[in-house]
Amino acid sequence: MEILRGIAVSPGVTINPAFLIGRQEFVIPTSMVDTSQADKEIARLKEAIDAAADNIRELRGRLAGTLTERYVGILDAHLAILTEENLFNEIAELIRKQGFSAEHAASRVLGEYARQLSSVEDPYLSQRSQDIFDIQRRLLKELAGEKDEPLKDLTGPVAVVAHDLTPSETLSLDREKIAGFATDAGGSTSHTAILAKALGIPAVVGLGRATSSVAGGDLVIVDGYKGLLIVDPDDATVERYRSSMAEIDIADRSLGELRDLPAETTDGRRIELYGNIELPEEVRTAVHNGAAGVGLFRTEFLFLQAGREPSEEDQFFAYLHAAEELGNMPLTIRTFDLGGEKVTAEHRHQAERNPALGCRSIRFSFENPGMFRSQLRAILRAAAHGNIRLLIPMISSIEEVYRVKTIVADTSKELRSEGVKVPENVPFGIMVEVPSVAVAPEPFTREVDFLSIGTNDLIQYALAVERVNEHVATLFTPAHPAILRLLKNVLDVCERAGTPVSLCGEMSADPVYTSLLVGLGFADLSLNPNAIPRIKRVIRSIAHEDARRLASQALELPSARQVSSLLLENLSQEARALIA
Ligand code: PEP
Ligand code: MG
Repeated sequence: MEILRGIAVSPGVTINPAFLIGRQEFVIPTSMVDTSQADKEIARLKEAIDAAADNIRELRGRLAGTLTERYVGILDAHLAILTEENLFNEIAELIRKQGFSAEHAASRVLGEYARQLSSVEDPYLSQRSQDIFDIQRRLLKELAGEKDEPLKDLTGPVAVVAHDLTPSETLSLDREKIAGFATDAGGSTSHTAILAKALGIPAVVGLGRATSSVAGGDLVIVDGYKGLLIVDPDDATVERYRSSMAEIDIADRSLGELRDLPAETTDGRRIELYGNIELPEEVRTAVHNGAAGVGLFRTEFLFLQAGREPSEEDQFFAYLHAAEELGNMPLTIRTFDLGGEKVTAEHRHQAERNPALGCRSIRFSFENPGMFRSQLRAILRAAAHGNIRLLIPMISSIEEVYRVKTIVADTSKELRSEGVKVPENVPFGIMVEVPSVAVAPEPFTREVDFLSIGTNDLIQYALAVERVNEHVATLFTPAHPAILRLLKNVLDVCERAGTPVSLCGEMSADPVYTSLLVGLGFADLSLNPNAIPRIKRVIRSIAHEDARRLASQALELPSARQVSSLLLENLSQEARALIA
């Protein structure tokens, strides 16, 4: 049994066989083979070893004389290990005796070699485990060839263990078969994390070396509460987890009783809870969980799911259906927030040195005017049939607001000239996720109908901490005094201007921050629909007056650590139970 620690990003626990998606493009199948096929499988293994050895020899030939002797020496060592008779025999024995496929047997044997080496105290020897991983990758690549095991063909539920998954890869997974996610890379607000939460799938990211510690088919526990990946758990651990899963199930069922009750503090302050959705079908979950509407529809996921730009018609029907399902409740449609980590294969070649600071989001839409206009046409057409609000992401200057408003006005005119009905005033809002807007929001409040604060990006930009980077994940915190001040500033300015403001970053779904947000003065929060009942329970357990005092105290503190301690010390019993 091995316990790896990472960042808990989507709550829940699952106990399943691992499905390993290696660091490279190949996938390690978990399948078994019939023992009658063992000879064929062993012949495949032999061929793959020979081919991998040829590759190394070829590489060695190319490098000899151009690199230091040491590097060539490493290749020689790889070759020696790979062609060592014992290695072949050990893998062949597993194929014959256990009925493992060649890939699975090879990944087990080499994985075990690497594990043993990495636990040796001598740093030189322990470094050599990386060489074994290299050999393993080389061999598996030969074995897998083009025959990746597509996730859609899986028969039972698995926990996906991967180095990292892009949002579009996450979307391409068969949700019915995926019981959990564990990745080496990623941070708490990466879009894979957001999507896992939306899908209600337990997930842990930033594990560092999950893909090296797990062989495909190993039993793993993904603990999305504590941020643990337990590899090959012993019976007592499995038993302990099984019984706590049963308790959590009972607690979750009781959350359903809150569905029709208001999110109201004990002294009568009402907070509206809206849902954040990535795909139109999530509207149903939002309504089911008692959302007052949709506060954020991340439409770029329509794009990522299709792998290309969705047509105006496809978008129109997606927006229309979502709006119809919501009845009179608002549907806040955010225009494509593409770029950064949210790119399709088509755009991946236009890699930028600093994608978070590059041509993403509204900048990307300006660069692609045809795409932007067709999205606006679809939104404005659907607005005639529902309570639709338009939200623009990543605004950093007032000129951008003027520019979008001109394009929206032109698009409405164009539609009307075609005889299409467009409502006079579709509520128009912007995301506050760039510090330039959070520091000086006044001019924006005069131009828009509402603001929505995106703390995921606001924290990234204000603290200079990349939101998807596990190496700086501990620095990414909503409790930083600068973030508290930015939130307070936007709230104060909006209150004076009479402009509604909500918060839709992941912070709104974290029970640790609920009192703080209520105390600062937020009356609207938008969050992952699966988290709505939990946050409602916390709101119903606190007094607005206490929350206000807590927020004032927090605003006086000089460090994130002190703010976090204050919030943790003052958690209500209900909030404490949810984060335990
Ligand atoms: C945010 O940045 O907080 C936000 C809600 O937008 P996204 O997570 O989609 O970037
Ligand atoms: Mg954002």
